[in-house]
Amino acid sequence: MTDNYGREITYMRMSVTELCDLRCRYCMPENGICKKAPELMLTVEEMACAVRAAASLGIRKIRITGGEPLVNKNIVEICRNAASVPGIEEVCITTNGIKLPKLAQPLKEAGVKRVNISLDTLNAEKYAYMTRRGTLSQAEEGLRAALLAGFKKIKINTVLIGGFNDDEIRSLAELTMRYPVDIRFIELMPMYDSGDFGPEAFISNERVLEELPEAEKVPCDGSVARLYRLPGAMGNIGLISPVSAHFCAECNRIRLTADGKLKPCLHSSDEISIKGLDEEGMRGQMIRAIHAKPEWHGALDCNNRSKAGRNMNQIGG
Ligand code: SAM
Ligand code: SF4
Repeated sequence: MTDNYGREITYMRMSVTELCDLRCRYCMPENGICKKAPELMLTVEEMACAVRAAASLGIRKIRITGGEPLVNKNIVEICRNAASVPGIEEVCITTNGIKLPKLAQPLKEAGVKRVNISLDTLNAEKYAYMTRRGTLSQAEEGLRAALLAGFKKIKINTVLIGGFNDDEIRSLAELTMRYPVDIRFIELMPMYDSGDFGPEAFISNERVLEELPEAEKVPCDGSVARLYRLPGAMGNIGLISPVSAHFCAECNRIRLTADGKLKPCLHSSDEISIKGLDEEGMRGQMIRAIHAKPEWHGALDCNNRSKAGRNMNQIGG
């Protein structure tokens, strides 16, 4: 389906929980969040129904996210259901990787094609500081498990944070020399509760190119990342720049939160509920959400915070 600005919407990001086993400082408050009553959250059946409704409107790709999707005890079933819907060509997952040693293989068998693993630093102390809970070795074991399971593609997501990991750009980028993975640097977004970070933390992705002058531009793979590659590398370096160079003109997605709200735009407070509806009802709400997509999300910087009204874990980043 095409939105009011001529963008074809083919991609739905579906959050399957607001909860998480980590507490990344840019994403979640230290004490976590108040767990909502189960009857307010989408059930496994409602998630499957939402994917069928989305597929009937031309959605071809589903990304399962959260919170941490692997803390949902039904995650394998949710992925299997989504992958079996006619018209869905790809089910992907975004995870912090901590639970991948147990779940990588079952997820692969359930039909998950691609996995994105979040990893902001290769320094154990910094990892523990930023996530407030996890250890670097757990994340590394998760990456190894994903490599062993043989997914079609593995991407590492790194949020670029001035004063935290801008001194690690080269070592992180060189993961693409050691493993058949892509790495994507994502600019820090000023979300509702990411208040720990001052202006110096919000740096442009251009810093990555300054650090890696030998990186060569390569053609885009259909995602919103600008792509580069180090000579001899097995994977690409992607730059995702929602702050310094927004990509709203190419936005092809809608988002569904774990409590059943369609968000036409990540940075808008507009929400359209599908909780409790049947497939036809969900379809109608999805048409409304697609028509409600704004042309762009408005200025975004440390003085103009996101108007999403939720933290990233409650939207599905
Ligand atoms: N828990 C999973 C994970 O960490 O990959 C999935 C959910 S997490 C909200 C999805 C992505 O959003 C992660 O790559 C995370 O680094 C990113 N993210 C969270 N808060 C962000 C922020 N304020 N700015 C930029 N990216 C953010
Ligand atoms: Fe959890 Fe992912 Fe948010 Fe980190 S970024 S707190 S792992 S949801």
